[in-house]
Amino acid sequence: VSARVLEGRTLAREIESQVAEEARSLREAGILPCLAVVVVGSDPASAVYVAGKGKACKRVGVISRTVALPESASQDELASTIGRLNHDSEVCGILVQLPLPPALDPLSAACEIDPAKDVDGLTPENLGRLLLGLPYTVPCTPAGIVALLDRWSIPVEGANVAIVGRSNIVGKPLAAMLMQKAKGRNATVTVCHSGTREIARFTRAADLVVTAMGSPRYLKADMVREGCVVVDVGMNRLPDPNSEKGYTLVGDADFEQLVGKVGAITPVPGGVGPLTVAMLLRNTIKVARAQRCRP
Ligand code: NAP
Repeated sequence: VSARVLEGRTLAREIESQVAEEARSLREAGILPCLAVVVVGSDPASAVYVAGKGKACKRVGVISRTVALPESASQDELASTIGRLNHDSEVCGILVQLPLPPALDPLSAACEIDPAKDVDGLTPENLGRLLLGLPYTVPCTPAGIVALLDRWSIPVEGANVAIVGRSNIVGKPLAAMLMQKAKGRNATVTVCHSGTREIARFTRAADLVVTAMGSPRYLKADMVREGCVVVDVGMNRLPDPNSEKGYTLVGDADFEQLVGKVGAITPVPGGVGPLTVAMLLRNTIKVARAQRCRP
């Protein structure tokens, strides 16, 4: 048996072309969607993601502005940078690129962002709205996962879902989305983390397993039941002297092992990743339309 490989690039391209169309009609109405990305320090993976987001904005006709702060920036400096962007009428969307240097607290930073400009859906207001079933902007990666599941007609309604990882940007909001009392959701969700005893007991009982841990090739074939669906969010760089970049990107699931046992699995790269960016663009259009940002 070989699993269906749930690739995300095609859907991401489709979403991008819808976004480009919407950006065009906003521009015709005098509204200029503009995204500000705040980057602190020089994490190499972040630099790659920020460059990717900038390119994606360009492809769809969204203006992007990178605001770089030094590694040594204080929490107050970060807060005042965000505060300035909150009051800048040309900026419709704001995101703070994670991870931040260890001295800075990402939650405090998220709390500074005006919820109306929160394209990552990470402010208390927007995460609270998601939990209440009144979403405005929702975090991009879980939104991308849900779009991918819908596109590949993966049954969610009534499914047993095990999410491994409870971060604020992936595990928790994804659990909130899948368990909503709504058509096509209504899943029974278990969220596992480092305090969970016997994670395999939960992943083996699941129809859908989502790994969002940052632990390379953690999920093995003996941890899942035959025919289940695996969504792999992990993006881990393993040193690889034979590769041009010096590393290989692997997920939190052992793709080679699982592909012969599961019914469907997302690849890394080319699964969830491209959809995260597409959802960011979609959120940017949403906040731009609502605020009617003008140059
Ligand atoms: P994070 O903030 O580091 O959270 C990791 C979560 O996994 C935590 O809840 C942690 O448990 C849990 N965990 C880690 N190792 C574990 C283990 N061995 N057993 C049980 N639980 C474990 O990570 P994140 O930001 O959610 O990101 C997770 C992964 O997804 C990373 O590889 C990241 O690069 C990737 N990612 C990809 C995308 C994309 O677009 N594809 C977007 C975001 C993130 P505790 O809470 O108990 O510490």
